[in-house]
Amino acid sequence: MISREELLELNERYGMFYNIADELPDGDFHFSAKDNLTTKDLPTTAGSRMLGTYRPPFDAAAVEALKKTGGILLGKTSMDEFGFGTFSTNSAFDIPCNPFDTERSCGGSSGGAACAASLIGGHIALGVSTGGSISCPASFCGVVGLTPTYGRVSRYGLIDYANSLDKIGMLAASCKDISKHIKKIIGEDPRDPTSCSHPPWHERDELNSIAVPRQALDGIPKEIISPFEEALCILKKEMGMNVEMVDVPMLRYAEPAYYVIATSEASTNLARYGGMRYGAKGNDLDMHFDRYFSTVRSENFGEEVKRRIMLGTYTRMVGFRDRYYIKALRVRQALIKDYERIFEIHDLLLTPTMPFIAPRFKDINMMSSLETYLSDRLTIPPNLTGMPHLSIPCGYVERMPIGMQFVAPHWEEGALLYAGLEWEKLFEYHAPEDRI
Ligand code: GLN
Repeated sequence: MISREELLELNERYGMFYNIADELPDGDFHFSAKDNLTTKDLPTTAGSRMLGTYRPPFDAAAVEALKKTGGILLGKTSMDEFGFGTFSTNSAFDIPCNPFDTERSCGGSSGGAACAASLIGGHIALGVSTGGSISCPASFCGVVGLTPTYGRVSRYGLIDYANSLDKIGMLAASCKDISKHIKKIIGEDPRDPTSCSHPPWHERDELNSIAVPRQALDGIPKEIISPFEEALCILKKEMGMNVEMVDVPMLRYAEPAYYVIATSEASTNLARYGGMRYGAKGNDLDMHFDRYFSTVRSENFGEEVKRRIMLGTYTRMVGFRDRYYIKALRVRQALIKDYERIFEIHDLLLTPTMPFIAPRFKDINMMSSLETYLSDRLTIPPNLTGMPHLSIPCGYVERMPIGMQFVAPHWEEGALLYAGLEWEKLFEYHAPEDRI
């Protein structure tokens, strides 16, 4: 078992934990939880000053399940505030640094989780994805990230971003590690009415056909496409898969639809933090209540949070709802149909995970919000459909990892893990130098 001192030292350099447990007793395995999952022994901030002093009285269902099965909680991992971001730089606290190059981002919003999975041998990191927050950091940090089907894992104890999209999953150094632990957190939970017990987990021991959507590869730079194509060759020649290019026309609308749905839901979720019942409080209680709420919210929410509240409030306004929110819901249904049509013929769908390797912090600072949103174009579509997906390393450029992302039909996580386990027999992942 890893010692607390080792962990503190590693954290000094990489900033993957906001808080580390006071004691680390022996256990069967160790795990971490993204800081938007409640934990009764450690603060839970969701990366926001608004929740800086929150100490939940209960564990999230996934945390509770891992503890019950012999897991030792090492700490709470750093993230973008409320999950809003792609690089974990939108945080009120520490920003995690990439295990392969500390001048680069870990990705987001589960950046600290991916960093911990990459640097700590045998570690299981609980992450959360709304629009790609498990796949993206897994790809940038050279680890495996499984995002299960929406409803597979109870969201009890999760600080919501967008309820119809949020999914709890796992990041680890290999599919082998994930296969050992994922079943501990799945299943129905009366505390989350959207969690499901059926259909049960479906183990697979054979896959034949993989579809690659043409539209997803448009505009992806050569440094990503080349290793991706090499991976396709391995899948064809060594794993005996039939790999076929397909059309998924609705893909181009996925991103705008996602940002409308996600910000609409986020803006209502964040309404509860007003300095009265939830979140930070203001000192001056004599002001008019409108001013009091505005002051508390202005002082304690970060810039990206404010942007999303404004966007989401706008798209839900009377007179605009049909044009934005309702239309986005229709796009989501049309996209699900497109995917289902592909899955009538193929077992899995495959794309690169991110359109570039982990960017340097100095380059992220130059990116506009729109550019950042556009970098999620490959991870958003499966999240919007609620279908399970798995990002695994498939190559290295300038010593930085590149990921590819498999998508399976609803409830077919077994197919994803089978593909990942077979892949790991043929492809060796690189470990960062500082792995302990
Ligand atoms: N980058 C996306 C966003 O900012 C996805 C984040 C997430 O999955 N939490 O919304």
